[in-house]
Amino acid sequence: MAFVITGACETEKAGECATVCPVDCIEEGKDQFYIDPDICIDCGACVSVCPVDAIEEEYDLTPDQEVYLEKAEAFFANK
Ligand code: SF4
Repeated sequence: MAFVITGACETEKAGECATVCPVDCIEEGKDQFYIDPDICIDCGACVSVCPVDAIEEEYDLTPDQEVYLEKAEAFFANK
């Protein structure tokens, strides 16, 4: 399981999450930040620093948020 950055990031794109991640698995994309689901260790450190509560656990995603996991997978697959 991994954490996923969802739609609120698309408007805020604050980036505090990337500065606290202990495994450096958060990268900035064109429209939002992304968590690499293959590297995330599920520590939760990024969640509390996000000013717009955009970060959710993968298993807590609502059906309309699942697209953000797909976006993250596609972002890192193309690197
Ligand atoms: Fe990084 Fe931890 Fe957030 Fe995963 S849960 S992205 S490892 S800070």
